[in-house]
Amino acid sequence: MSAGAAVAAPPDAESCSQVPVLRERGQREVFCGLTSIVWLHRKIQDAFFLVVGSRTCAHLLQSAAGVMIFAEPRFATAIIDERDLAGLADANAELDRVVGRLLARRPEIKLLFLVGSCPSEVIKLDLKRAATRLSQSFGPNVRVLNYSGSGIETTFTQGEDACLASLVPSLPPEPADAGRSLLVVGALAEIVEDQLGRLLGQLGIGPVRFLPPRSAASLPQAGPRTSYLLAQPFLGDTARALDERGAQRLDAPFPLGVEGTTRWLQAAATAWGISTARFDAVTAPAAERAQRAMARYRALLAGKRIFFFPDSQLEIPLARFLAREIGLVPVEVGTPYLHRQHLAAELAMLPAGTTISEGQHVERQLDRCRAARPDIVVCGLGLANPLEAEGITTKWSIELLFTPIQGYEQAADLAELFARPLDRRMRLVA
Ligand code: SF4
Repeated sequence: MSAGAAVAAPPDAESCSQVPVLRERGQREVFCGLTSIVWLHRKIQDAFFLVVGSRTCAHLLQSAAGVMIFAEPRFATAIIDERDLAGLADANAELDRVVGRLLARRPEIKLLFLVGSCPSEVIKLDLKRAATRLSQSFGPNVRVLNYSGSGIETTFTQGEDACLASLVPSLPPEPADAGRSLLVVGALAEIVEDQLGRLLGQLGIGPVRFLPPRSAASLPQAGPRTSYLLAQPFLGDTARALDERGAQRLDAPFPLGVEGTTRWLQAAATAWGISTARFDAVTAPAAERAQRAMARYRALLAGKRIFFFPDSQLEIPLARFLAREIGLVPVEVGTPYLHRQHLAAELAMLPAGTTISEGQHVERQLDRCRAARPDIVVCGLGLANPLEAEGITTKWSIELLFTPIQGYEQAADLAELFARPLDRRMRLVA
């Protein structure tokens, strides 16, 4: 890959979309994978995330989760200090001591993730081996797994991918007499999980299980009779690990907006042979409610131009939703990585003429953004303040990970997330 920009057709253009992609490599402005701990720790309630990192890592987590106050936090940082970095201390012995103390004090922890960071990678601390060793010491009561959240390797949503991929080998196999089942993959707010689970149940699809589960004791089974639906677009490694277990991915757009949710549910309904009449009867009332709720945002946002910097990997499904259901005009849609297979259905629905960019050369992209003068820019926190100072309205992409946005009931809330900053700007200008 060259250091500059190159326009190339996707290699599997036939199966996806004919859209050319602007590929860029250069300086990028994205949080590291540790950030995903902030939403993951809320999901698996008996899990604990122990970052093996530096004071910088601890600081990042503390500020990202700063608004939350816990009696018993579910994440912490084991600080690698100068002695470890200089090789003067035995980092493995230190880690064993920290984990021993933590598990003695917190007997409710059933699943412990050792999360690698830039410093743990620099000193080549083998967390895989540490996880195996600690699992032997503390299993079967506590399972110890590891993954990397390092900024050298991951952008912030890839932290979730790495975490879930590390869980897949621990999923129980299907019993010999198991029928088919559906696995929904990707961390969703519980309210969203409940709504989607209810709709799938009403359609007669099931049993439905979720990854990540709400507790370590309810790890979903996986095997050849498992079909899975991705609920998030950044789960390439997790999908690969599930494929290796024999599970089959159902191809669908992501459940953002009415259209995305309908087609996501439809993929499961088709696999289960559910009739159109039943599908419509179950989904139409919620879809119509969502359409009505979105109308006021359509009136406010239609025709406005939107520019996405690559950050959350939600950019392409978001652009598709905003363009097709709200009437926004995507100018450029940047994504850190473009998984053409998982995003094939999404790419095919983006309006013609949308520039799609993969990777980042931040200076060039800022130049393109300034030249385009979009009405709203979706970007990471690092770019938001300077752009706001230039008079450009921004939306923090990380907020989209902390807010329930999937499914029918959330479609209008999702539109509102984009209406709010524009509305604020208009009031400031008025
Ligand atoms: S993992 Fe790396 S990028 Fe992330 S906070 Fe730690 S040092 Fe910074």
